Amino acid sequence: MHYTRRMLVCPVRGCHIALIRDGRHLLCAHGHSFDIARSGYSNLLQPQDRRSKHPGDTKAAIAARRRLHDRGVTAPFPQAIADMLRPSASDIVLDAGCGEGFYLGSLARETGFDAHGVDISIPAIDAAAKRYPACEWVVANADRRIPYADRSFSIVMSITGRMNAAEFRRVLREDGRLLVALAAPGDLIELRGRGRDRVARTIETFSNEFMLVDRRSIKNSADLDAAAVEDALVSIYRPMTSKPPAAMCVTFSLDLLLFRATSSPGM
Ligand SMILES: [Zn+2]
Repeated sequence: MHYTRRMLVCPVRGCHIALIRDGRHLLCAHGHSFDIARSGYSNLLQPQDRRSKHPGDTKAAIAARRRLHDRGVTAPFPQAIADMLRPSASDIVLDAGCGEGFYLGSLARETGFDAHGVDISIPAIDAAAKRYPACEWVVANADRRIPYADRSFSIVMSITGRMNAAEFRRVLREDGRLLVALAAPGDLIELRGRGRDRVARTIETFSNEFMLVDRRSIKNSADLDAAAVEDALVSIYRPMTSKPPAAMCVTFSLDLLLFRATSSPGM
């Protein structure tokens, strides 16, 4: 496990040297120290990165999302991602914006790869660490800087998260791959109407550092009871209407994009 810890770097601005584990702390050679929580995650969030416009998911949204995953409504999705990525046990994988860890944790259990998840939400990372203790979980603001050394990973995943093309490229190896999952226009269409198609703009966002090699759409329709419909609404921060939600069939859908890193100037 030691070599994975060495990939973590100090998040203090201007420092960014290796972090070494010492008991319940991670330390850099300049004396910066970070706690490892009881549940096993590391909190590398810096004060200046905490006041973000995107402070991360609330405890309620995380719990609602996990209950939906546990009902199996998204069960086909990790399999579809695995079919596209074909990860192996020798891969080193980062999930940037991993939330409560369902996708990374499920894929890591299936494949046995070396798994690392980063999210800005402490309750999300705490939940991830408790359920998937074999993976490494880190609280950090990946919008600013991913606290890993250059070229640490063979695969980066961004699943309905915010995208930071330059940082994804920096932490990927030369032959690395990037899996991006976007909420498809039909995702939760029964609850929020038709969404935007984000595929073209996303490909454009990554065009400097990455080349698209595959794309797929996946969909699952599920009969939800009223409590599950309420969870779906909470998970997307939809205010409750005056009447309580009723049972209905709800569509879950993702657009999957697989990119390969291209060599960029200066690398
Ligand atoms: Zn430091």
